[in-house]
Amino acid sequence: MPLNLHFVKEGTILTPESHSSEKFMHLIKVGMARQYVQNLSEEVKKGLTQKAKEGYVTGKPPYGYKKLDKKNSVIDEKTAPYVVRAFELYSKGDVSLRQLSSRLYDEGFIYKDTTPKAYKTQIEHILKNPFYYGVVQYKGECYEGKHQALITKELFDLTQLAFRKDNKPKHMIARNFLFAGMIKCSKCGCNLSGEIKKGKYIYYSCTGGKGECEQQHIYIKEETIEKQLLQALSRITITDEHKEWISSVLAESFKDEQRYTKERINSLNTQKQKLRERIDKIYLDKLDGKISEDFWLDRHNKWTQDLFAIQNAITAHEKTNINFIEMGAKFLKICNEVEDLYKVADNSEKRELLNYVLQNLCMDGESLSYEYKKPFDIFAKGLNRNKKLLELSEDRTFCIDIFEAMTQTSCDLLRNIEDFMQNIA
Ligand SMILES: [Zn+2]
Repeated sequence: MPLNLHFVKEGTILTPESHSSEKFMHLIKVGMARQYVQNLSEEVKKGLTQKAKEGYVTGKPPYGYKKLDKKNSVIDEKTAPYVVRAFELYSKGDVSLRQLSSRLYDEGFIYKDTTPKAYKTQIEHILKNPFYYGVVQYKGECYEGKHQALITKELFDLTQLAFRKDNKPKHMIARNFLFAGMIKCSKCGCNLSGEIKKGKYIYYSCTGGKGECEQQHIYIKEETIEKQLLQALSRITITDEHKEWISSVLAESFKDEQRYTKERINSLNTQKQKLRERIDKIYLDKLDGKISEDFWLDRHNKWTQDLFAIQNAITAHEKTNINFIEMGAKFLKICNEVEDLYKVADNSEKRELLNYVLQNLCMDGESLSYEYKKPFDIFAKGLNRNKKLLELSEDRTFCIDIFEAMTQTSCDLLRNIEDFMQNIA
């Protein structure tokens, strides 16, 4: 896939003197090209999923099986007993993976000649693979396999239960406090940790992990912290001028992208047409006796395969979507509605959102200090970085900051919040 085509076609050369919007556009195009290639390869991979859906293994069959032909796997008499015994022993729930490996070895089962005793992870891999009871898994989806099962579904389920026993945490996991691990103590640099007082109030304090700290006994209410954070978020607003500038650059870049796709598809169609003509012509040559039957068959098969590959590529291009426009819209939404988004988010989303726009959260007494991450410092009211667009065109790093922030907004966070907001609307 010619990644550089976008730029070759554009003929733009970037210099340090380039205008910032030009630089921004260039960055977007690099990003688009990268994502384009990624999406294309995903489309190609979908062909593999199809194979799994039909119930065949993609690639090498799991330990305990061997390949019969291109599609089918059969039980490998040599390694299968190891698998069965491993499930039988582990499902009882009284051995660890390490003990299981030794036990199998003591009973005379050999994993591989090179590694007679399997590693913990190797055994775990076997014990968690539903293939052994007849299911083919691909990218988290399960399909009914065409192969013969080694164990029953019941034994597999029992084994999964045993895993839960084996991996049970030794200590109860601490309650997930909203700001745990996010804010540092201004005096000693330790993270503030949360605790519940009087059964319902959440307080944070310095852990004093680096030795006695003067702020260790200052307990700050969660609401006190949240109030200050909300204030920080409320200052982020994007002016119409900025908004228009970002949107127009995105739209411009997207036009090029669509043109590129169209050109690619056109050129692939031309190739397809040429191949078709060749296939027709060589068939006539065969009929006329100009070439041998074998030669014809060989060419015919090869070109038919090529034709198939080209058709695949065309379909992939047609399905490949670049959502930079959507990405930019999301970014602008975050800039304008960050406070509202925060209010409807759950704890983990709140943390993600805060982490997206703020950094270096630090508690001094009961007062929180923080910095805006770039480019949000530009959009925060009252900060000296909050300049007019005209001044910004001199700021070369500005575009890079926006682009980087923008490409991160494809995170699940915003999607979750948007779903939520749509549900309550
Ligand atoms: Zn401290």
